[in-house]
Amino acid sequence: VLYQTPDVSKPRYVRVNTLKFDVESAQRELEERYSVQRDDMVPDLLILPAGSDLHNHRLVMNGSIFLQGKASSMVAAALDPEPGWEVLDACSAPGNKTVHLAALMRGKGKIIACELNKERVKRLNDTVQLSDIEVLHGDFLSLSSSDPSYSKVRAILLDPSCSGSGTASVRLDHLLPSHATGQSSNGVDEERLNKLAAFQRKALEHALSFPAVERIVYSTCSIHQTENEDVVKSVLPLAASYGFHLEAPFPQWSRRGFPVFEGCENLLRTDPVEDKEGFFIALFVRKVTFSKELS
Ligand code: SAM
Repeated sequence: VLYQTPDVSKPRYVRVNTLKFDVESAQRELEERYSVQRDDMVPDLLILPAGSDLHNHRLVMNGSIFLQGKASSMVAAALDPEPGWEVLDACSAPGNKTVHLAALMRGKGKIIACELNKERVKRLNDTVQLSDIEVLHGDFLSLSSSDPSYSKVRAILLDPSCSGSGTASVRLDHLLPSHATGQSSNGVDEERLNKLAAFQRKALEHALSFPAVERIVYSTCSIHQTENEDVVKSVLPLAASYGFHLEAPFPQWSRRGFPVFEGCENLLRTDPVEDKEGFFIALFVRKVTFSKELS
């Protein structure tokens, strides 16, 4: 039986909040105490030596940098929204990826952050305070994609509720994917996974229906094929009917989706042990012919 122990052998990543501070200044200040490199994949992500303790660092305390791992930073970066776009963060609390989107957009454009759970909306409001983000307390599934309020949404980040199995510090002996073992994973509540997957599929189908959207990221912090490759596979015919195809986020990253359908090399996985967090990312892209108001 394997246990995940806190890993002090892996580098510490920090993301610079470019809405507040510039990367060069953050790097210079951190270099007073640490050796600092820039990540070559995720913009504004800095790499510090393993074990660097930054919890009380001035830049953390004043919100200039976030202690955010590389895997979770890859999600908003995969969506890669352009400054000036309208973007919908469909399931957004506590808002870590929402503020990352705002930074990637250099504070230009519009971000709507939707969240169903009332308590979590409070945390979302705390996270996004001072940034120009519109918080919407409601059910993403009941936002009408034909409502003119969403007719200019160009990108959707869909990071729905999931089992969280990629980030829990728990036993890891259930990690083998079902396609590899030919049987259901040990100790996994299949009924719960199926319920989550049914919601995830519905939410992804809904995201695909927004008329002006050209990029959708579907992400989970789950290691389970049921919530990842299986959900993506189930929406492929609908996605194709709307003109979407899968594209590979970070093609240079070697861990890709489990080989369970043609095209799953476009999917991205991170490993809960090797990469510290087990994330899954799928990127749907299409070309939209824009009317004058959108361009
Ligand atoms: N993206 C967030 C971040 O990085 O900070 C984490 C999102 S968390 C995995 C999923 C969130 O979706 C939860 O806060 C949950 O309450 C919310 N949620 C679940 N069902 C929803 C729905 N139908 N509409 C909107 N939000 C929903």
